[in-house]
Amino acid sequence: GPILYLVPTPIGNLQEMTPRALDVLRQADAIAAEDTRNTQKLLNAYDIHKPLFSHYEHNQDTSIPKIISKLKDGQTIAVVSDAGYPLISDPGQGLVRAVLDAGYPVVSVSGANAALNALVASGLSARHYLFYGFLDHKSSKRRKELETLAAFPYTMIFYEAPHRIHDTLVDLLEVLGDRQICLARELTKMHEEYLRGSVSEIIAASEGLKGEMVIVADGSHEKQAPDVEQMVEEVRCLQETMRM
Ligand code: SAM
Repeated sequence: GPILYLVPTPIGNLQEMTPRALDVLRQADAIAAEDTRNTQKLLNAYDIHKPLFSHYEHNQDTSIPKIISKLKDGQTIAVVSDAGYPLISDPGQGLVRAVLDAGYPVVSVSGANAALNALVASGLSARHYLFYGFLDHKSSKRRKELETLAAFPYTMIFYEAPHRIHDTLVDLLEVLGDRQICLARELTKMHEEYLRGSVSEIIAASEGLKGEMVIVADGSHEKQAPDVEQMVEEVRCLQETMRM
């Protein structure tokens, strides 16, 4: 029947495609993919032959109505991204909302996700954590984002592109301080590696390293000081309303 399945795909190691995920793809009427050429390779590896069409950020004005009209026809649609979970720093956000609003069920299938692999092996607390995803590409904006997280008391997870990892680590050092981090690279792949230590140690140790990386950063251990400026501002607002 008409169901939208969110199907995670491997983040490297092809064996991390679960039997259920494969079943869902085999039983779907069509598969919406972030990049159809990429997904075609995955489907070929499993001898799955299904109609594929693309759904990504810049075609969603047409791909979302297309998916909803297929659901209307009673079709089962599977959504995949290039790696890991759809929606997690990947396309699918607007789609899920639109399909729910149209009254169709949305079901997620379990599978690979780079953030969780990195978190649980990081050695940092996994009790409470924030998945931040990608920081801004521009250093000035990235630093502003990091400033809002400087006092955050829980573990934080960031995704980063290989060519920006050094600059982002430098911003992390300058804004968050020399706290403990784990740089997890090439997860589930042949050259998987975890670098654990203070930010400055990891900057030195990661010089020239390539590959896909996740940064897991310790939360702030400093007791949050009261924000005096904000308190003064609030009192001023209060005084103004009382004067009226
Ligand atoms: N949807 C994916 C997920 O669920 O993990 C994330 C997709 S996002 C576009 C790609 C980013 O995820 C990379 O820049 C990197 O930070 C991280 N990533 C994906 N695969 C990875 C791997 N095998 N090892 C380390 N990081 C990975």
